[in-house]
Amino acid sequence: MYSALSAALLLALAAPPAAAPARPPAARALGALRVIAIDPGHGGDNRGCLGVDGTWEKETTLDIARRVAAILGRETTSVVRLTRDEDRPLGLRERSDLAGRWNADVFLSIHLNADAFGQGTGIETWFLAPADEGAEGQALVEVEEAGYGETSSVERVEVQQAEAIARDAAVGAARVASEVLAELVVTGMGERTGARVRGVRQARFGVLKGATMPAIVVECGFYSHAEEGMRLADPAYREQIARGIVDGLLRFDARLAGSETAAR
Ligand SMILES: [Zn+2]
Repeated sequence: MYSALSAALLLALAAPPAAAPARPPAARALGALRVIAIDPGHGGDNRGCLGVDGTWEKETTLDIARRVAAILGRETTSVVRLTRDEDRPLGLRERSDLAGRWNADVFLSIHLNADAFGQGTGIETWFLAPADEGAEGQALVEVEEAGYGETSSVERVEVQQAEAIARDAAVGAARVASEVLAELVVTGMGERTGARVRGVRQARFGVLKGATMPAIVVECGFYSHAEEGMRLADPAYREQIARGIVDGLLRFDARLAGSETAAR
């Protein structure tokens, strides 16, 4: 036999909870990456490589970049900026200059790979080699930069200046951080996509030369491969690539935030 009080209590407990206002889960505050610059490779007349599905690299790099920005925007407090959010040409130095102007803490240039015989597969990340090294990736640098036109004398002077800056200790530190970032991003992408991980490599990419923050080129897979190219054409697969890039960025942030705490 229940008392009136306990009956009321039971009723109250049995009643469905008042509808909580729908709200997204709290955005995660990043410790070190406050501004993240994402650079969709190519654009405009510079179309990049052709995918097996007939689309151009410039379209897919923009799609992946937007997906990375959307995830970070929803799930973190960081500010994400795209060097282009439309189909327009943009010079190599303009891209890293924008990142510098935004005081970006990190710079990722998004690309897809291709080879003449459609044999290559896999994902890889690149960071800037010192001026006297980097012959390893020269072939890819030439393919990636073919669409940007000839370097003007003004740009050559800028490149020389940039190389003087590259000798600066701060840029040296950014290069060390770039290698860590490259490793974490390629690992994150590999875990999410199951794609073959080709690893971390270094070359003299023009898009990285002017960057004063940790900066990498992300090659998201071979658009020229019959199977991998078709996977890259699938929005669901591109979302997994974007997730993997975000995983890498979050781990990089944790690493940076941890070392800052340890240094205090
Ligand atoms: Zn490219």
